[in-house]
Amino acid sequence: MDFQKLADLYEELENTSSGNAMREILSKFFKEVPPEDIAMVAYLTLGQIDSEYEGLVLGMAEKSVLKAISTAGGIEQSKVKTIMEKEGDVGLTAEIVLKKKPQTLVPLGKLTVPELFEKLHKITKLTGSGSQEAKTNTLASMLQKSSAKGARYIARITLGTLRMGVGDMTVLDSLAIAFTDDKKNKEILEKAYNICPDVGVIAETLAKKGIKGIEKIDISVGRPIKMMLAQRVKELKDIKEKIPGEMAVEGKYDGERVQAHKSKGKITLFSRRLDNITAQFPDVVKYLEKNIEAKDFVVEGEIIAVDEEGRPLHFQKLMQRKRKTDIEEYVKKVPVQVKLFDLLYYNSRSFLHEPYSKRTEKLQKIVKKNQHIMTADRLDTDDLSELNKFFKEMLHEKYEGVIVKGMDSEYQAGTRGWNWIKWKKEYVKEMIDTFDLVVVGAFYGKGKRKGTYGALLCAGYNEKDDTFETVCKLGTGLTDEALAELPEKFEKYKLEKKPARLTIKKEMEPDVWLSPHFVVEVLAAEITESPYHSLGLALRFPRFIRFREKKPEQATTTKEIKEMR
Ligand code: AMP
Repeated sequence: MDFQKLADLYEELENTSSGNAMREILSKFFKEVPPEDIAMVAYLTLGQIDSEYEGLVLGMAEKSVLKAISTAGGIEQSKVKTIMEKEGDVGLTAEIVLKKKPQTLVPLGKLTVPELFEKLHKITKLTGSGSQEAKTNTLASMLQKSSAKGARYIARITLGTLRMGVGDMTVLDSLAIAFTDDKKNKEILEKAYNICPDVGVIAETLAKKGIKGIEKIDISVGRPIKMMLAQRVKELKDIKEKIPGEMAVEGKYDGERVQAHKSKGKITLFSRRLDNITAQFPDVVKYLEKNIEAKDFVVEGEIIAVDEEGRPLHFQKLMQRKRKTDIEEYVKKVPVQVKLFDLLYYNSRSFLHEPYSKRTEKLQKIVKKNQHIMTADRLDTDDLSELNKFFKEMLHEKYEGVIVKGMDSEYQAGTRGWNWIKWKKEYVKEMIDTFDLVVVGAFYGKGKRKGTYGALLCAGYNEKDDTFETVCKLGTGLTDEALAELPEKFEKYKLEKKPARLTIKKEMEPDVWLSPHFVVEVLAAEITESPYHSLGLALRFPRFIRFREKKPEQATTTKEIKEMR
């Protein structure tokens, strides 16, 4: 497929401000894409060059991209820089420069989608001395082969700033519309996506093998599975209604969720966002290697920071391990412990559809427990007062609370179902729970907060419509330090207009729109009705707790917020 067609599509999407219209445009387009190109088109439309979990990085700074634009356009770098300063966007800069290209520079053929894709992949592989120059030349060669409009999008894809408001769900919905006409099929697609969160694989399977092919998608070691999440209840006794039979009550640990895959002798760790976090935790890899003897496996657990005696430390401490340098030094500085709580695959056998009791029975058998790695603390009971006693013990141990799991329940990938229910200390203090909300805009600060932002506009995720609905303006709880960092943090995500999938009331329009990316944890005391928020509800006295490692689509759903009232 000619890349120009994709550039025309992107222009159309860029000028669209409703999610529904986007889905219509995309689905029409997907029908026209040759099946061998559809995975590439799906990735590129999300601004990616592969599935996110592959963690490919192009590693090009703005400066190198501008250099490539100058080469492709045949004008001096200083002039390109001046245009960039005025436009503030590398895409528009590329377009302007290439429009002005001297006639003597004839276009070097036509850029196809596979060629663009292949060259972008080539850029990711260039390392070592002279690689920056090679990357710049490769990019310039693509720009030379594309139209000015095409250059706009190539430059943005290269810098990771193609923000058209299309999310994974938008692509899935559009695929369902394009290739199936039965609504039921959307559910099948979503189910497959939860087990295989790779939009490219889903798109290609659907285009080549139809919905029958999608139904056959199963766990594949090395490819992360969307993680199962826990529901919440208002009162302890409600747990019994949801899980009437035998309950497994586990400690709830405040660290980082990890899904570990072992395949072909190699262990890969995925975070809850499905990012590859293997390099951050060489110690965890070692503990898993040493203490689980198996050809292959997929296990899940929580990594927590601990002190010398193995007592849990605050989540903030663990955050120090989120780094790209001095890793070995921090392995020593911030030791961790792994609390394993699930097993999804073991020695060529999938456990994904086995009940909790069977999965954990196997897990218990295969883990050699020691102070670094162990299974979750657990009590099996059908009695609420026993549960409550165990909950208090867990709080005494400085854990967050408990997660109650149905003994016979399946692992529901990517689902916040009633098979797992969390019970945390906040519930008991009569504060309602925390919410994970998506930042969709920001308001300029006044007085002491002048020069930065004073408040953030936060939204919940409407799973049904694949939209974001605002629910609070958040100003409390942000320290001066955190506030000072916001302008730089947000810079790359600023948008000229409302994000396409956001619904908002006029009264709430922020000073700055932000592409849905950041998720914040917010504590609130009450949920009230509100005419000002598009959800129709507002959080009262919201307080910022922390930024969370979650994707916008993993935020608290609007349905959950409504149910919590
Ligand atoms: P929340 O983030 O409040 O929705 O709680 C769900 C998170 O709790 C999971 O994603 C895990 O990271 C964490 N967690 C801690 N302990 C457990 C456990 N025993 N079972 C499942 N999840 C746990």
